[in-house]
Amino acid sequence: MKKGKKLYEGKAKIIFASAEKNLIIQHFKDDATAFNNLKKSTIEGKGILNNRISEHILTSLKDIGIDNHLVKRLNMREQLVDFVDIFPIEFVIRNIAAGSLTKRLCIEEGTILKNPLIEYYYKNDELGDPLVASEHIYNFDWASSQELKLITNQCLRINDFLQGMFRGVQIKLVDFKVEFGKRKSDGKIILADEISPDTCRLWDANTERKLDKDRFRKDLGNIIEAYQEVARRLGILHEQNTNVRPIKFSKPTAVKIRKK
Ligand code: UDP
Repeated sequence: MKKGKKLYEGKAKIIFASAEKNLIIQHFKDDATAFNNLKKSTIEGKGILNNRISEHILTSLKDIGIDNHLVKRLNMREQLVDFVDIFPIEFVIRNIAAGSLTKRLCIEEGTILKNPLIEYYYKNDELGDPLVASEHIYNFDWASSQELKLITNQCLRINDFLQGMFRGVQIKLVDFKVEFGKRKSDGKIILADEISPDTCRLWDANTERKLDKDRFRKDLGNIIEAYQEVARRLGILHEQNTNVRPIKFSKPTAVKIRKK
């Protein structure tokens, strides 16, 4: 697929036009940012891992009827995806308290939530992506109540599926962020963006070792090894593809590697 001009460059991804007007190319960079861009770094190989992990998750979601923007992975760093008009909202789904929730409401990290908690954040870097209520979303026409209801239902279905998928490989899905958009070709509301260790909190089920971007946010080291461990457990990556050694766990965990 021929790559067209650059349409947008974000913190971790670049969007290019493709040969077809309703499809775009999503390129995964190695750049990492945190705390509203205050902390920046390049983590070699991260883009390759996120491309593969997100492809695996979005393909699995499509298999259970959750439509999303992924058309196909093109190469190590790029995916062909549906062009969407993105809702200016980040949807965060939480199962266990961590991150901003623990700080805002003084909840101890690791507290299991009674029910999955869905939060809405207004996508605006200058404002630092503030938490908003559904009433703000309706009032400012970011989405209608019908659209929000549909998206909220999808979030819960995605959460159920991902929790089970990760539990199956001894990983707790603590929380994650998703984005939705209206597909330009037909106006359907679909899941977009990515789902990867950059956008989820993933803890090893036995040791609670963090296997996600918190290793970068909190300077815990071994970032790429943790992302690779997630990919290996999901059975989607050959070790030689990333040029890094797998993370060493005190208790080795069973790893399934798909033979290609
Ligand atoms: N998250 C994300 N992008 C953002 C903000 C949050 O992918 O711009 C993810 C984050 O990785 C975590 C979840 O959303 O899995 C909840 O993040 P939280 O609100 O706790 O914010 P943080 O601690 O990252 O500031």
